Amino acid sequence: MSKQKQKGREVPGIQGGKEQVFSFPHMGDYHVPIARLLENMFPSGRVLVPPPITKQTIALGSRYSPDFICAPFKFNVGNYIEALAKGANVLIQTGLGCRFGYFGEVQEQILRDLGYEFQFFSLARENARLKNAYQGFRQLGCPHSPAKFLFYVLIAAESIRIMDHFAFIMRERAGFAQRPGSFEYLYGCMLEELRQVSSIKELLAIRRQYNEAFGKVEMRQTQHLLRVGIVGELYTLMEPYSNLFIEKELARHNIMVSRRMSAAFLLFGKNSRKSLKDTGKYMRYWPGANATDSVAQSRYYGKLGYDGIIHMKSYGCTPEINAMPALHNVGKDYNIPILYLSFDGQTNETGVLTRLEAFVDMLEMRRKTFEEDGLSGRGHRFYFDKGSRS
Ligand code: SF4
Repeated sequence: MSKQKQKGREVPGIQGGKEQVFSFPHMGDYHVPIARLLENMFPSGRVLVPPPITKQTIALGSRYSPDFICAPFKFNVGNYIEALAKGANVLIQTGLGCRFGYFGEVQEQILRDLGYEFQFFSLARENARLKNAYQGFRQLGCPHSPAKFLFYVLIAAESIRIMDHFAFIMRERAGFAQRPGSFEYLYGCMLEELRQVSSIKELLAIRRQYNEAFGKVEMRQTQHLLRVGIVGELYTLMEPYSNLFIEKELARHNIMVSRRMSAAFLLFGKNSRKSLKDTGKYMRYWPGANATDSVAQSRYYGKLGYDGIIHMKSYGCTPEINAMPALHNVGKDYNIPILYLSFDGQTNETGVLTRLEAFVDMLEMRRKTFEEDGLSGRGHRFYFDKGSRS
């Protein structure tokens, strides 16, 4: 493991006589707008996206993290170690929500104890206030005025909104494209364009262009459309490696997948008070993080007549554990089956896939029985959940 030494006087963009190399943990495809944001904010530094998550990343993260901490912590530590080994010397952490807000402090200490030398910026430490974030970025060498800073934040936020808009459509439709992989291909092209975006005008053009392209993908019609809603802990939902690529697996089974939780939802749609209200009689208090969202969204899928719900969380995630009794009641009242999956770095892939296949078989049999009894409802139609897109 290489150690990094800082020598000499620090000047903006140069740390200890060396170039500043910024890095941050992975979460799905959000490295695209985050890398772009950091490139804009620190023009004299370099941005290093951590290597893609592999078993080695998780092994590293697990080795140096407390045993009982939730999986996102371990994934982040693995990302940081791999980024540091490749030369990163400024690490960024976002935090907030639950104990995630304290992750940065502990992770920084673990990495320092391992002998790494780096600067660490935690948004949670700044209470995620833009003014504080700006001051923190200035201290790291950001040369921009507050107006320019805000402009780049706006570009990143809009990029996230666009990404999540098309990711939502992709999840719903990927299992039904005439040519499998069409949506994934378009989505990948769109990410490439977002990687270079520098103005709101360009963002609007990207949105227009891909709205058209997504609309032109030929779809297979199906008589037996199964719809599954995904709810749960945000990191497990948004980092596909951490849930063993469940959404792709569902698309492979020709299932329409809906997941409302996304970074765009957290930035533009989350409202804790409304979310608690939307849980109806199922929850009276907010148990932290996204537990009320999980229950409110499950209720929403129940009302829309979805065929099933999959609840995913990290092992030991207290807020989502608190949501589970309420979810159980939602499932009972709306007559909607719920599959509960818990992940950590050691989760056995075969075990999860076996449970998933059994769940899908059960949904298909259930649908068949409903159809034979003349009880099938909205699920028959090729219905897309337009209302929940960002
Ligand atoms: S929401 Fe759960 S899994 Fe995610 S950081 Fe918080 S406690 Fe951990």
